[in-house]
Order: sequence, then C-alpha cells, then structure tokens
Amino acid sequence: MDNKTDLKNLTMEELTAFLQDMNQPSYRAKQMYSWMHQKLAGSLDDMTNLPKALREQLKDQADYTCLSMHERQISKIDGTQKFLWELHDGQMVESVWMPYHHGNSVCISSQVGCRMGCKFCASGIGGLVRNLSAAEMLDEIYRMSAVNNERVSNVVVMGTGEPLDNYDQILRFIHMLTDENGLNISQRNVTVSTCGLVDQIRELAKEKLQITLAISLHAAFDEKRKQIMPIAYKYSVDELVDAAAYYAEQTGRRVTFEYSLIEGNNDSDEDIAALTKLAKRAGAHVNLIPVNPVTETDFKAPKAAFLDVFKNKLEKNRINVTIRRSMGRDIDGACGQLRRKYLR
Ligand code: SF4
Repeated sequence: MDNKTDLKNLTMEELTAFLQDMNQPSYRAKQMYSWMHQKLAGSLDDMTNLPKALREQLKDQADYTCLSMHERQISKIDGTQKFLWELHDGQMVESVWMPYHHGNSVCISSQVGCRMGCKFCASGIGGLVRNLSAAEMLDEIYRMSAVNNERVSNVVVMGTGEPLDNYDQILRFIHMLTDENGLNISQRNVTVSTCGLVDQIRELAKEKLQITLAISLHAAFDEKRKQIMPIAYKYSVDELVDAAAYYAEQTGRRVTFEYSLIEGNNDSDEDIAALTKLAKRAGAHVNLIPVNPVTETDFKAPKAAFLDVFKNKLEKNRINVTIRRSMGRDIDGACGQLRRKYLR
C-alpha cells in the first residue's frame, strides 16, 4: 500500500464524501460500507452490485485492506483458534478466536510489536514496529468471522500492542466496530486493555464511551511495578488509580484491574492489603491472571490452588474478583508467542 486512501479505514461519512467526489450516487456509500463491514467482502471484486468500471477505478485510486492468513491453530481442548495474519507490508500480527456458550469472543492486536517492554510479555521483546490502522484491526475480526462463518459478540483489544499508544486509530476502530452500519457490536461488549497510560486514560474518559477499560496493574507498589513494567517509571500507581477513578466517574463504567500473579513477586499479604485499598479507591473489579510463562523470562505462575486463596482473601475484603480462564493451552497460548516463534 502507498499513500492512497484505504477504503476500509473510512467512516460512513468519509466514504460518502469520497464517493461523492467521484460523482457516485448517494446510495453507493451505504452499499459499499455494507459490503466491507457487514458482508465482510475480501476484495472489491466481491462487491458484485457495484459497476465493474467503478471497481476498476477504485482499485486504481484507493486501497482495500484485507489480511491474509499465514497460520491458524485450533485447540483440541476448547476450540480456541489462534491466527497469524500477514499485512500488506509483510508484517505479522496475531489474533485469537474464543468460542463460549454465550457467543464468540475475539482478542485482537493493536500494533505490530509494542514499545512498552513489560517484562512478562513476549509481544514487547522486539519493540514497536508500527501502529495498526483501524481497518487492519477491524479486518482481524472480519477475517476470523468469515473463516468461521459465525458472528462475533465480544471484542477484546488485549493482543500485541498498547492500544492507547495508537490512540486515534483505536478510537476510530471503536466507532466503526460499534456503528449500526457495520458489525453493530454494543460498546459494552468491547474491552480495551492498557498498561496504564495515564494521560490517554483521562483523554478517553472524556469520550464517555461505554466500553470496558482494563488496566494492567500487576503490582500495588511503585517499586514492584517498576520491576515488571517500565511504564511505572513514567506514572506512579497513585496517578494511575486516580485516572481509573476519573474514568469510572466520567463514563459510569467500572474499570478492571488486571493482576498477573507471579510467584514470590506480587503475591504476599502485604500485596493483598495494598491492592484492596487501590481497588476500593477506584471502585475497580480485579481480574487475576496466572502469569504466562514466556521463553525469554523466568517468571513462574503460582499453583492453581493459590489463585483461589488469593481470590478469597480479596473477596473477604469486599473486592469483586474473577480469575481469567486460560484458553487454548495446547496451542501457542500467550499473546505475542506465535509471532515471536515466526520471527525466531
Ligand atoms: S503487556 Fe501489553 S503493553 Fe506490555 S509489552 Fe506486552 S503488549 Fe505491550
């Protein structure tokens, strides 16, 4: 792709203006938007009710993002599917498809690589390569939905990348994903996960979206957090929790604190007491995650029984807690691992 307009990255209003400039009738934008964002067309040639001359003109004057599937792994345990996509410039990103009884959830990437450098994460090891466009993020979902021939009901932006480090495109993505002319997914079924970019959280709060914001806290003390997340050098836990409280106040939506339990690191009673205070201050829900073993680090996940002990102690302190189920344990589980395997 060069600097041409990517048709899939245009909102309905922008597409309408673009086609008007090409002297197309006004109904054309709705037709095309539906092909791209509802019928999930893989190419302009799939749009059979568009005049051939127009399709040719569009191929000449614009681009059309469509990811190609490089690898697909399917878990024999729970049907989780992991996809590795090739982008137009040869870069790779991964996404996950999780079938639940209440519908299909997908977890998508927002950047190629990531510059946040969290120590427990395989995605950040090679640094940031580039941001994904809204169209590329949407297409991760569209291609998975098309391959499975099933609808998606929940979207989690928790794969490779820090979504709020790609702020404008993530906002565009949310608007297009929840547009009634597109997949029309309810904002309440969209979760965006951040490692805690305080300024962007405050910015996002003003949008008053109804999405769920998940904040990777992982440690209740600055010193401990610095050991695992370099972003903690920029923003203190205090500033982060204040931003979370502000987000909840502005949007009326309770935020989630993600807490990866690392054996012997952030799992003491002192940690529980501090985490309780922070969760209460922000009115947050706590989601416990057994840390993912990454080849390049030596973090150990606590025993399953310990997760329950930790959970019960928080619950006694009247904190709302869940434990994240680990999906697709027999395939390349944790975020970033499939892409890293490919790069290696
Ligand atoms: S955990 Fe998220 S923010 Fe941290 S390095 Fe990995 S992808 Fe980036």
